[in-house]
Amino acid sequence: MKVLYVVSEAAPFVRTGGLGDVAGALPTALAKEKIDIRVVLPLYDAIATSYRNSMVYVGATTVPLGWRNQYAGLFKLEYNKVIYYFIDNEFYFKKKGIYGFFDDGERFAFFSKAVLELLPLMDFYPDVLHVNDWETGLTPLYLDAYYRNAKKYENIKTVLSIHNIEFQGNMDKYCISQVFGIPDRFYQIAEYKGDANMLKAGIESSNKVVTVSPTYANEILDPYFAYGLADILIARRYKLTGIVNGIDTEVFNPSKDAALFEKFSAKTIAKRNKNKSGLQNMLGLPESDKPLIGMITRLTSQKGIDLLFGVSRELMDMDIQMVVLGTGDWKYENGIKDIANYYNNKFRAVISFSAGLASQIYAGSDMFLMPSRFEPCGLAQMIAMHYGSIPIVRETGGLKDTVTPFNPVEKTGDGFTFKTYNAYDMLDAIKRAIDVYWKKDEWKIVQQNAMSKEFSWKKSAKEYIDIYKSL
Ligand code: ADP
Repeated sequence: MKVLYVVSEAAPFVRTGGLGDVAGALPTALAKEKIDIRVVLPLYDAIATSYRNSMVYVGATTVPLGWRNQYAGLFKLEYNKVIYYFIDNEFYFKKKGIYGFFDDGERFAFFSKAVLELLPLMDFYPDVLHVNDWETGLTPLYLDAYYRNAKKYENIKTVLSIHNIEFQGNMDKYCISQVFGIPDRFYQIAEYKGDANMLKAGIESSNKVVTVSPTYANEILDPYFAYGLADILIARRYKLTGIVNGIDTEVFNPSKDAALFEKFSAKTIAKRNKNKSGLQNMLGLPESDKPLIGMITRLTSQKGIDLLFGVSRELMDMDIQMVVLGTGDWKYENGIKDIANYYNNKFRAVISFSAGLASQIYAGSDMFLMPSRFEPCGLAQMIAMHYGSIPIVRETGGLKDTVTPFNPVEKTGDGFTFKTYNAYDMLDAIKRAIDVYWKKDEWKIVQQNAMSKEFSWKKSAKEYIDIYKSL
């Protein structure tokens, strides 16, 4: 089976968050299951020269986009046994950054159409086009509007993955005809509530819509989670499903991670102690056995930082230590820094993006707090479990699907959870975790359970293959 995976970022070439992680790992996992998968992404300026030097130029064509005709070059690179294509157009992609430009709508409309225009140069006509998020939401629509009549395109099936429904590619409605060049008879599909909505176009025109966890697939039928798209999703419910993400266990592996003070595995959990003391020393926290809670997160309203602020005093009155690594909104960065200033002997704030420090926190903290308001899947809680840091999470989206509450009677489970988005419910879950932490034998069981949980992509890859086959 031939699959073309269309995405706006993919590790290791270019990555700004979870989407890049997924796009870096899922294709490799699918290739291992004998899927003939290729990946296509824009050739951003940010892609390192070392990769560019290994790319092969395939050819170029012109992409009609509204009243424009735009150059599209095609480059090819094999990496980890997967073929990656990069679409070149410096007008759109030679910028300092990936997203956030005034012409993002046009940039990604161009990319979404260029993919289809370049299939002949790839000489690869997939059975399934798998697109991701709003950036590539127009591809299935362009396929229907312009390419279906061509023999080699007529049977292509389409899958749209929604990684976070908050981001929909809302543009001025005049973009639909003037910029995207969508024919009038498809106008309704790309329009929503007076705007162009590129994600909605993808939902309407794909054969299947997949979100990154089963719980999130259900949640987005509710207006609270759907950012305005609930009625569309309810109407399209018959093609909506959820598959939980995995993590790249080659990259996130405590027995190989070079950033750690001491490598360890599920069999040598005691070695985590060196990581805890190393982290405490590095951060200037007193070296001690007190429970150390870590957070690694974008500092945005999604991630439940408000709950932390709501009970910061009660939390800091407890006999614990805490470290938060993150960047994001100004108000959250400042609030976190305020707590750190006030509780200088037990709380550290590191306002930066650092993969090395992230590893050290995953390995050195006892607990990992993730009280998200909503969470499509979440990778951080899985990485934490894999590194033996016990997650304390709110039961939403992928957090609910990946963390099993610890049951002290049956000694099952691998984390601590709370349901309502309420600061005191979160505090209660933290207290329950700390109670178990001091019962050292029980804590070891929770850690064993967490570290031995299966998070590789293999299982999810198989579920994606089932979907491809069903189409
Ligand atoms: P989201 O994609 O919503 O940001 P995820 O939990 O799915 O959340 O993925 C976040 C990823 O980014 C994790 O791998 C996490 O370790 C990493 N990350 C987040 N913030 C930072 C940071 N400040 N420094 C290093 N890594 C970070």
